[in-house]
Amino acid sequence: MAAINEFSLAELRRDLHKYPEAGWKEFRTTALVAEALDTLGYTLYLGADAVDVDKRLGVPDDDEIHRARARALDKGAPETYLDQMGPVTGLIAEKTFGDEHAPVVGIRVDMDALEMTEASDSDHRPEREGFASRHPHEMHACGHDGHTTIGVGIARALEGTDTFTGTIKLFFQPAEEGGRGGLPMSTTAHLNGVDYLIALHLGLDNETGKIIAGYDRPLSNAKIDVMFRGESAHAGKAPNEGRNALQAATTAIQNLYAIPRHEEGATRINVGQVRSPNAQNVISDRAEIRLEVRGETANLNEYMLGSANRVIEHAAGMYDVEYETALYGKTTTFEADDELVTMVAEGAQSLDSVNTTVKRAQIGASEDASYLIKRVQEEGGQATYIGIGASNVSGHHTSRFDIDEDALEIGVNVVVTTLERLSTAQKTTF
Ligand SMILES: [Zn+2]
Ligand SMILES: [Zn+2]
Repeated sequence: MAAINEFSLAELRRDLHKYPEAGWKEFRTTALVAEALDTLGYTLYLGADAVDVDKRLGVPDDDEIHRARARALDKGAPETYLDQMGPVTGLIAEKTFGDEHAPVVGIRVDMDALEMTEASDSDHRPEREGFASRHPHEMHACGHDGHTTIGVGIARALEGTDTFTGTIKLFFQPAEEGGRGGLPMSTTAHLNGVDYLIALHLGLDNETGKIIAGYDRPLSNAKIDVMFRGESAHAGKAPNEGRNALQAATTAIQNLYAIPRHEEGATRINVGQVRSPNAQNVISDRAEIRLEVRGETANLNEYMLGSANRVIEHAAGMYDVEYETALYGKTTTFEADDELVTMVAEGAQSLDSVNTTVKRAQIGASEDASYLIKRVQEEGGQATYIGIGASNVSGHHTSRFDIDEDALEIGVNVVVTTLERLSTAQKTTF
């Protein structure tokens, strides 16, 4: 028995919380999960066998990947799985229980942390109880440590029960933050023939014991990095000889926020970062901006992206500088399927640990499980995205984020009871 399978759910979540890994660096997380599921008899697909490598977005450079892999080994990741992964994180684990005619159910959980620093005062429980992040500028501030734990918990719970018959595919997705890992996982053959797909998220400002059976209609989102390149010059002696990249960048920023709203629905835009590493007396030759757009529908997101590209192009033209853009990440939108939502809601209501069940709600944020969900729906399957209340003490993506660990078992139980209902429903259909 792998040591990780002797951890309770809370212990596993705390271990992952202590060693957070940002997108495409989830080497330790992937390897530990692989070890746990290997022991439980799952067939494993790791790294390039789990994601379409060429479709990955926002991948850190080779040095950063190398350092993250070395760090994972140093922090106890089993080497055999690191070897199978190569330089690519991500895992799909598959196991059939009983009847091969029974449904194929995919469960998608994400594994990545955020690039931010965790609070370090004793009012913050992870610090007080010794499981705050040991990795500078990386933190599980969205609850994905809990999602990974729930994925392992579901696999454990299915052992020794005969109430579920069918095939389970567990999708442990890298790089959800920024919308970078969903697309390359969604295009793999592992999504072929999935009858039902369940994705989930902890917290989202819901109390522990509250379940949202069908969170849907997330905003479509695209993130782009833009580099303006001009010509440096002495700002006093020969300013006319320069071509000012920083002026182009700031002109772009002002006008990006001036993109008109759209009659068909909600849109968003935000520039989160601008960098131009030049001294006061140098005409800036390089300026980078990092921005995102969102839309209530895929079309509205395209409208924002097209408008943003136009603004960037002409801002560069005004100052006679060159520019290049790179897509950092993207997500699309989806609607959950009513039949599956109803089944999740009925299952949740049957659990003593669940006191409030909401059938449907709009999620508001963006989510790249959308690509896996769309793919399953396009092929005739059904999908939903479940919200699992976890009384998060601070908002998602804040330095004081933490979850109520009682929610981990609730999450496992909601999915497992749904799985049992799905195989019963299938049997009565035949
Ligand atoms: Zn997040
Ligand atoms: Zn999240």
